[in-house]
Amino acid sequence: AAKEKGRNQFSVFDPSMEEEAQSRRLMLRDLQKGLDKQEFLLYYQPIVAMQTGRTVKAEALIRWDQPVRGRVNPGDFIPLAEESGLIVPLGEWIFKEAAQQVTAWRKSFSPDFVLSVNVSPVQLLSTELDCSAWLKNIKALEIPPSALIMEITERMLLESDKASDEKITELQAAGVQLALDDFGTGYSSLSYLKRFSIDYIKIDRSFVCNLHRDSEDVALCQAIIVMAHQLDIQVVAEGVETQEQHNILLEAGCDFGQGYWYCKPVTAAELTQRLQKECEQS
Ligand code: C2E
Ligand code: MG
Ligand code: MG
Ligand code: MG
Repeated sequence: AAKEKGRNQFSVFDPSMEEEAQSRRLMLRDLQKGLDKQEFLLYYQPIVAMQTGRTVKAEALIRWDQPVRGRVNPGDFIPLAEESGLIVPLGEWIFKEAAQQVTAWRKSFSPDFVLSVNVSPVQLLSTELDCSAWLKNIKALEIPPSALIMEITERMLLESDKASDEKITELQAAGVQLALDDFGTGYSSLSYLKRFSIDYIKIDRSFVCNLHRDSEDVALCQAIIVMAHQLDIQVVAEGVETQEQHNILLEAGCDFGQGYWYCKPVTAAELTQRLQKECEQS
């Protein structure tokens, strides 16, 4: 009887849960279709050198233009792509597209230009992810692996296993750079810095947005930058929206800035124009 009761507790019908499940099924179906029909595209947000203001890197940010849904932002489909495993083929596409694009920009404008790509823990945990194929792809384009930065989050630390650690190490050994995204929002971040040799820390937007009116956030950013530099890690500040925030970060010795103050995420063509202009000015 107790068992019966226990079971009943789970069978309470909740129409909103059913609706949610249905909308997820539809979204998943659309995601799969979208992959076949090439509805995804990459936007690029400049990452500027704080001292000079020059666009020296960019972060690739995925967008989805679905015929009926319109423009869908990653926050609204990446989680489902991760749960369903679709992030693996999607991630392959992102990586190839980014590698091709950075090759073009390096040839036309700056041989040192670098593209930063978000990599989901689910991708790295998947047995399907083939690092040697990634590296072959890079080699075929005749760019050094260091033209790409792999952005991982602190969440990766919690979910990682031996195989995913080895993949990160393999890519790093080949020269791919490593950035710790959203730094300070997860936990165990410091042990992460020790485990892998991280090249960049990206200070999370939440520490940057109140810089001009919160002295504690200033202290935190300063401390992160000092610590990073002592560990030979460079620092990118995310979500810089005002000149005041920029000035405080510059003063604190931050290496790179990313945010609406410099430029919002733009199409490849728009970033090409920006790089062109910067080239002409120098
Ligand atoms: P993220 O990697 O931390 O990317 C930075 C996010 O902050 C981007 O949102 C960007 O548009 C936004 N942002 C940039 N500057 C500012 C600013 O000054 N103010 C504010 N309020 N926001 C700013 P987006 O493009 O919507 O991406 C959200 C998240 O989705 C990313 O966070 C990343 O975790 C994930 N994501 C995006 N593209 C990809 C991808 O290609 N693969 C994977 N696995 N995840 C991705
Ligand atoms: Mg990122
Ligand atoms: Mg980021
Ligand atoms: Mg971030």
